[in-house]
Amino acid sequence: MRVLVVGAGIIGAALADRLTRPASGAPVRVTVVEAEAPGAGTSGTSYAWINANDPADPAYHRFRTAAMSAWRDLAAGFGDPAWYRPSGNVTWAADDGARERLAGRVARLSGLGYAADLITSDRFRRLEPHAAAPPDALIAHYPGEAHLHGGPAARALALRARDSGAELVTGRRAVRLNTGGDRVTGVRLDDGRDLDADLTVCAAGRHSPALLATAGVGLPVVDPSEPGSAAPCLVATTSPAQGALNGLVHAPGLSARPAENGGLVLEADDLDAGIDESASPALIQEAGRELLARARALVPALTAEVAEVRRCVRPLPVDGYPLIGFQRPGLYTAVTHSGITLAPHLAALVAEEIAGRPSPELAPYRPDRPDPAL
Ligand SMILES: Cc1cc2nc3c(=O)[nH]c(=O)nc-3n(C[C@H](O)[C@H](O)[C@H](O)COP(=O)(O)OP(=O)(O)OC[C@H]3O[C@@H](n4cnc5c(N)ncnc54)[C@H](O)[C@@H]3O)c2cc1C
Repeated sequence: MRVLVVGAGIIGAALADRLTRPASGAPVRVTVVEAEAPGAGTSGTSYAWINANDPADPAYHRFRTAAMSAWRDLAAGFGDPAWYRPSGNVTWAADDGARERLAGRVARLSGLGYAADLITSDRFRRLEPHAAAPPDALIAHYPGEAHLHGGPAARALALRARDSGAELVTGRRAVRLNTGGDRVTGVRLDDGRDLDADLTVCAAGRHSPALLATAGVGLPVVDPSEPGSAAPCLVATTSPAQGALNGLVHAPGLSARPAENGGLVLEADDLDAGIDESASPALIQEAGRELLARARALVPALTAEVAEVRRCVRPLPVDGYPLIGFQRPGLYTAVTHSGITLAPHLAALVAEEIAGRPSPELAPYRPDRPDPAL
């Protein structure tokens, strides 16, 4: 069976890797087409927190905890790679309402068997000696959570797939899906070549709707070009600040974690809210300065500067849940938010489905489920 994976972000790369693992037993020939380079898309700019920190939907929480465990196994197979950091996460709340919500979350997560504890400020100082939390903060610790350097991780997976027999075509964009009747038969590349496949997997992230539309296939994701769209967001990286943080830290108004360059990756939901496709470069730079000011409040000794501030676009399903499954004969789609967390678990389940064994775990996440907005 010839499987063509379009996109070598974390989703496509993890799937190609899974399909080519010797133990998979899947009799498939895999080709990956990537418009730029593995990890060059959203996966390379993601905040990339691997977690199941939201207890609101217990079934989805379980799905995500399975994904956390899949990352541990995958990383072990690479021998403690620098791109997977099982650092844990510290979150604190300062005002009354937020303290109550955080305590409730920790209690619910613990009740679900998730590693979640309230810790003392002494314990916090041992975990994060350079970070400052207010004396009356309520502090939670989630030791099982991790973060990923998404670009290197996608590259490592794509290269291992190639070394295991996959063909990796980089710097070539699939400009359309080819069809024969109702069946998708492969893709046309931007150099005019046609690549035929028994199954084409659309793992093109935020660009998936455009590719799928070439065969008249829709996908319910948030349109990033809508004014005020929730899909565009902002991430800043600082210059190196070795040891500033040991792991993920979520303070009121700031999410921060160590970056690949030794600096910090910074994000803030309230600043994301003001960023859509019309945001000017000046507004983006101003948001970067604000993120740095918040980082300096979090880590008082921080001397680093903003190295880069980028507007990114998340592939955001309208109801927030993954969009995974066959959409036409010969066409399978794998597009999701939280793709960093979910990638290796999705890869294992999708590989099963490609081998003809439908996964009950994926049943709630079919792309043709009713649109909750209708
Ligand atoms: C700021 C930010 C913070 C985030 N935080 C988290 C988080 O904390 N935890 C978490 O789990 N998730 C998080 N996410 C979401 C997560 O990053 C994404 O869900 C994930 O990276 C999507 O991976 P992907 O492989 O689907 O897409 P991508 O990484 O975008 O990969 C798609 C690839 O397809 C290629 N491509 C596109 N079109 C074509 C074409 N026509 N032909 C050939 N190639 C094509 C692109 O070049 C790209 O490399 C965050 C996202 C953002 C932007």
